[in-house]
Amino acid sequence: MIEITRITFTGTGSGKAALNRFHSSFVIDHSGFRLLVDAGDSVSRALLKSEIDFNSIDGIILSHFHPDHICGLPSLLIQMKMSKRKTPLKIFLHNTLFEDLRRLLVKTYVIPDRLNFDLEFIKYEFESEFIIQDDFMIRAIQNSHLDKYEYFVKSEKISLASSSFIFSLSGKKIFYTGDLGDENDLNLLDEVKIDVFISETTHIEPGQIVKTAEDYKSKTVVFTHISPEIEPQVIEFVQNHTGKPAILTAFDGMELVL
Ligand SMILES: [Zn+2]
Repeated sequence: MIEITRITFTGTGSGKAALNRFHSSFVIDHSGFRLLVDAGDSVSRALLKSEIDFNSIDGIILSHFHPDHICGLPSLLIQMKMSKRKTPLKIFLHNTLFEDLRRLLVKTYVIPDRLNFDLEFIKYEFESEFIIQDDFMIRAIQNSHLDKYEYFVKSEKISLASSSFIFSLSGKKIFYTGDLGDENDLNLLDEVKIDVFISETTHIEPGQIVKTAEDYKSKTVVFTHISPEIEPQVIEFVQNHTGKPAILTAFDGMELVL
């Protein structure tokens, strides 16, 4: 049986609030598991707009702790409680972020004991692949997006963990850049082939993304995390692009079936 993978781009905007795009998030459906990737501000509304039932989400993975990637999580958990969720929810995050998330939830009165469902935290390490479900695996790669806060670590105990992800889905590989520091982060990949290359476009040029995707023999490139300032440039780039790989400019609600 051929396993179908569906990706729904629930939010395709950048860290800047916009009326036409929610902050960046997407949902992967594979092997009977529904995974939400990132949960920034307004993610509950983004899911509603894409008609994704809160309680149908089996797990959430967090790339890093900027507000446009995690600040919708406390509210989303409350929506699940109000929707009478009973089934456990898995939350995948880098091990250095667990304590910060636990505190954030408690301090916004999202007390795990008072939810009607269990939260199961899965703390990953960089570079070690972890299994979501049969034929659904993830490997996180550290990127330099948060290195700019290094000076701040001395006075505040903060984690600089920022992940890019490789999703392995029944032999298909999807790469998601997360938010990058710069183009050098793309050289960290040791994969030979990436089928679908999903890239943010706020901290890296479209041409550089496509050049890297070509190196990994990608068939499809998806541009997301699109800021209002960069949007015209991204659209123009895609219009002028011919040949392979196919490039899609993501929009909220866009679905990709593999
Ligand atoms: Zn971002």
